[in-house]
Amino acid sequence: MSYDWDGLHTDLRRFLPKKAIVSKRQELLVYDCDGLTVDRHCPPLAVLPETSCEVSQILACCYRRGIPFVARGSGTGLSGGALVEQEALLVVTSRMRRILKIDLENQIVTVQPGVINNWVSRAVAGEGFYYAPDPSSQVVCTIGGNVAENSGGVHCLKYGVTSNHVLGLEVVLPDGTLTNLGGELSEYSEIDLRGAFIGSEGTLGIATSITLRLLRAPECVTVLLADFPTIESAGEAVRKVTAAGVIPAGMEIMDQYMINAVNDLFGFDEYPRDAAAVLLIEIDGHEAEVKVATNQAERLCIEAGARSIRTAHDRNDRERLWKGRKSAFAAVGKISSTYYVQDGVVPRSTLPKVLGVIGSLSKRYELPVANVFHAGDGNLHPLILYKADQPNIQDKVRELAAEILKECIAVGGSITGEHGVGADKRCYLEWMFSRNDLETMKFIRNAFDPEMRANPFKIFPTPRTCGESMGRKKLLLSERNELVRDVEVY
Ligand SMILES: Cc1cc2nc3c(=O)[nH]c(=O)nc-3n(C[C@H](O)[C@H](O)[C@H](O)COP(=O)(O)OP(=O)(O)OC[C@H]3O[C@@H](n4cnc5c(N)ncnc54)[C@H](O)[C@@H]3O)c2cc1C
Repeated sequence: MSYDWDGLHTDLRRFLPKKAIVSKRQELLVYDCDGLTVDRHCPPLAVLPETSCEVSQILACCYRRGIPFVARGSGTGLSGGALVEQEALLVVTSRMRRILKIDLENQIVTVQPGVINNWVSRAVAGEGFYYAPDPSSQVVCTIGGNVAENSGGVHCLKYGVTSNHVLGLEVVLPDGTLTNLGGELSEYSEIDLRGAFIGSEGTLGIATSITLRLLRAPECVTVLLADFPTIESAGEAVRKVTAAGVIPAGMEIMDQYMINAVNDLFGFDEYPRDAAAVLLIEIDGHEAEVKVATNQAERLCIEAGARSIRTAHDRNDRERLWKGRKSAFAAVGKISSTYYVQDGVVPRSTLPKVLGVIGSLSKRYELPVANVFHAGDGNLHPLILYKADQPNIQDKVRELAAEILKECIAVGGSITGEHGVGADKRCYLEWMFSRNDLETMKFIRNAFDPEMRANPFKIFPTPRTCGESMGRKKLLLSERNELVRDVEVY
């Protein structure tokens, strides 16, 4: 399908400055993928608005001309969510970077969507507050992207994911209407549309202002580093600690590939190189509480088979222990030119078993798999390492990734924890949800976006994106007109 791009360009120039419209192919190439680099498509046109009003006008122009759009923050998403697969206008929020309001008395902050995650904590740290959800990409990803993906992070084990920290959203709907979902209070009498929007991956509209909950910084923080002879025993330690009722702020596992990659990257030996896995446990709260929980966690790690435990009390030492974990994905470049990361979730009690299965699959497919993940949440991040120039390698890599996700589902888990479904995992959605489940989700989508123009073809499987396996005929009967048209050309 081809749209009237010249007409849209002319419309946009009526209210946007020239610098806010990107139309040259060489400049658009920076937007041809997100963090999932295996799929690339260059968008036909991109805009960089600065205000909610501009976003509203942009979407109204798209609506009048029947043109789809895709929102983009920093493009660190790992499921192809910000990818413009079919023709669509890319709406980039990177110039919407203002912190609009800080209200410490009520512990809230309101930001534009392009504000970088860790700028929020930086803005209020001096007053003893912080914003809890901390994806490992927090120095670069945006709050808008975090809302769209319902992002998690190291501290989400104890404090909850993005959804637990967003009070209100100002949203532009696909027809350009500006509306508010939730607000500045913790409770509202309305249907929780705020909750529906969070995690909807840009398929319901564009968030233009976001009100976040702030927390008081804890009185005391301790970080433990335990090292293990097998990755399964590290998983067992996670199981034991949480089963004992200790709720650390975060619990992260890195395997030997990752240990050595980060040690090499920083030229240090913070993590024992001969360990099969290390487990980082952060415990925070009042001093007495932290002391008891730390002793308990140390004892349980030893019981699970830890060879040694190092405890960091002062800030510098804690930061040194976290530094490697926070840079783990970047460090993979030290050991492999290319990787493909998955994001399955499993019940914590099954971690030792599933980690063992990942090891066996890695051997069977003859592809190394590095693991670094939010162990306390059972949120696995297996990174499949490969050389892109090997023949048919991408099919083999995706097959291995699919086997890992099947195992996650088999033990009662999920195909995604925090990276979203996007383009990457939509074909697996039917493994988890019945047709009725999917139709119910589509009702909500249709209520916000009856024309299906917001981030089209993401999340939900379609014949075009998932091929014959979808049962093409059945789908033709139930999909919206837009998709039916599309299937005809498929
Ligand atoms: C090294 C690395 C580590 C990571 N670690 C974590 C982690 O620990 N936890 C985690 O959850 N994720 C992690 N991620 C994934 C990624 O950083 C998050 O998904 C993040 O929230 C994406 O933010 P972004 O600004 O880059 O969004 P983008 O990638 O630009 O977009 C992501 C999705 O959000 C939509 N979107 C963007 N802005 C808006 C908006 N204003 N309104 C509506 N929709 C919008 C897009 O359409 C797209 O579907 C990691 C990624 C990398 C590369």
